[in-house]
Amino acid sequence: MSYTEDRATWFEGQGLWRHIPETDWRDWTWQLKHRLTNAAQLEQFMTLTAEEKAGCEFANQKLSLAITPYFFNLIDRDDPDCPIRKQVIPRAGEMQLSAEEKLDSLGEDEHSPVPGLVHRYPDRVLFLVTDRCAAYCRYCTRSRLVSNAQHYDFHPAYQQGLHYIETHPEVRDVLISGGDPLLLSDKKLDHLLGRLRAIPHVEFIRIGSRIPVFLPQRITPGLCEVLRKHGPIWMSIHVNHPKEATLELKEACDRLAFAGVPLGNQSVLLRGINDDADVMKALVHRLLRMRVRPYYIYQMDLITGGAHFKADVRNGIEIIRALRGHTTGYAVPQYVIDAPGGGGKVPINPEYVEKITDEEVVFRNFEGRRYSYPLLNTPVPDTTSADLVKPDGDIILH
Ligand SMILES: *Cc1c(COP(=O)(O)O)cnc(C)c1O
Repeated sequence: MSYTEDRATWFEGQGLWRHIPETDWRDWTWQLKHRLTNAAQLEQFMTLTAEEKAGCEFANQKLSLAITPYFFNLIDRDDPDCPIRKQVIPRAGEMQLSAEEKLDSLGEDEHSPVPGLVHRYPDRVLFLVTDRCAAYCRYCTRSRLVSNAQHYDFHPAYQQGLHYIETHPEVRDVLISGGDPLLLSDKKLDHLLGRLRAIPHVEFIRIGSRIPVFLPQRITPGLCEVLRKHGPIWMSIHVNHPKEATLELKEACDRLAFAGVPLGNQSVLLRGINDDADVMKALVHRLLRMRVRPYYIYQMDLITGGAHFKADVRNGIEIIRALRGHTTGYAVPQYVIDAPGGGGKVPINPEYVEKITDEEVVFRNFEGRRYSYPLLNTPVPDTTSADLVKPDGDIILH
């Protein structure tokens, strides 16, 4: 697999829907209403592989199938290996369960004091405010509750969540996620953010959303005004592949950034999609050009039926090694494994340190050259602090 960055162009336009009025295309409710949600609709535009057909049959018992027209345009319909296609069109692999996998692989339910709220870390909570998304990622970490295809019976009850946060002064950081929080109406978001802002101990509010990627039309001036009003609201978006970095996404990020929203990106390492240093380098460069700081690369969680997406951790480490020092520091995300069973995110890094003793630390740089940093302070004979001061009293700066 190789991917060469095309610096000049960002995908834009209405593609397969060029015949419809632009006002419809730019209307997020039109996009939602015209989502592709079954094999027959997909087959109006493309030939599904046998694997995909089998996956589509099964999908609605696992995680709904839904793709916005905007995102569907990014699929290369002639390429069964298209990295966009594999993220949103189900494949037979989803039916293949492995012993290592779990419905709730991160043990979120055990860390959930009230439905829809996960309190795993000392000072912050994950607040799940909806079970719906604009489109569904086939490797979804919360497929058990998102889209309710599995009758998990998750009903976001955010009064209870708010009450929990209000009565737990140790919670200084609230991560609003789901489902996709930006599917809530402006009015509901305004209310929710207002309630959180009114809690004196909540210092930091952020939203995790893939809406800018699946449905950039949702980033309306009205929504941006709500975010600005309650700001600073931070946002993590979820881009996996440079092909997702379109002009529409860039413009949506502009609108968010101008509303004062600092932007980060989370990618999931996915086999045959982005587990490659050239692809990731192209992605992080495109993100920086959109004012988005790469934040995390996740090793995929051990979700049921996810084996066909599972990348080798050694590839993940090599991706970080290929970025660190070789490109802009801002472009280098932290690679993490969210520990199975609920241990939280753990950084997984290339090893640069070779040895640490009382005398020195020995390490290699990005080119593989070895360096030593001495930890000792060996006095140079016959100098005293008086030597550092000139007779007229000026400190000599080194
Ligand atoms: C990821 C996550 C957070 C936020 O973690 P950061 O490292 O602060 O971004 C908080 N709670 C839960 C349960 C999470 O999974």
